[in-house]
Amino acid sequence: MAYHGRFAPSPTGDLHLGSLLAALGSWLCARKAGGTWQVRIENMDPPREVPGSAASILRTLRACSLEPDAPPLYQSTRAGVYADAIASLRADNLVYPCWCTRSDLATHGSLHPATCIAAAEPAREPSWRVRVGDTVIEFVDTLQGPQRWPLAATAGDFVLERADGVFAYQLACAIDDAAPGITDVVRGADLLESTPRQVFLRRLLGLPDPAYLHLPVLVDVHGDKLSKSIGSAAVDPADPLPAMKTVLGLLGIPLDGLRVDTPRALLAGALAAFDPARLPRTATLAIPPPAT
Ligand code: GLU
Repeated sequence: MAYHGRFAPSPTGDLHLGSLLAALGSWLCARKAGGTWQVRIENMDPPREVPGSAASILRTLRACSLEPDAPPLYQSTRAGVYADAIASLRADNLVYPCWCTRSDLATHGSLHPATCIAAAEPAREPSWRVRVGDTVIEFVDTLQGPQRWPLAATAGDFVLERADGVFAYQLACAIDDAAPGITDVVRGADLLESTPRQVFLRRLLGLPDPAYLHLPVLVDVHGDKLSKSIGSAAVDPADPLPAMKTVLGLLGIPLDGLRVDTPRALLAGALAAFDPARLPRTATLAIPPPAT
């Protein structure tokens, strides 16, 4: 089967080193396999969206010569598809309304108690949760290895549609990664814990699974999430080469002897030198602090 990859940024800020790793990793895997590569803007959550950031991310990808094969897909155009999916899960009694407030949830810890169902329905919109029961999801991640996730203990009955009508990332991503044209998901290992929920939803909806490869999450030399000064600063679209070189090095690509004068030349050389077998098989990856 032909390989179809994707990069799926949320428009919550500019492209930074961590998201460039997912963009370049997914692009390299797709191109190395002779496949296509798409960009999906995950703008399902208007309150979290930073105005202008979708355009800024797309501009930076272009500056890096990361050209998708199709126009970007905006999840905001897909509300009808997500609503139909919830309607079909409701028809099968696989989801239930939940009126828990934040403080109700806080008293129960992070997992939702399946017993919350209000005796009298309050006069406000509920969120909709899916019943996970005793499902255990198993899959093999190309880099992180075999995975086994009991959903009741790791996710609980999770939200598919919030009370404010916003469809949850888990639902939108699960459906869109089964769309024709996606066979392979390459993304950061911070999303590994989301994958079982997405596999579970596709199973309920009768949709096919893509293959998964979760790249290490970038951390500083102390193992902490990147600070502003190191890698969470935006990649500069006017000068993307330093960030590209850092990320390509982290992906196991030897840069010696590569042309590094333009993003296009750097990508062509990197693609020729890229060997998926040399991708780092760890959950985190430390990036060196910038030279002072
Ligand atoms: N939109 C998610 C993010 O930017 C990533 C989704 C994905 O790659 O599945 O964190």
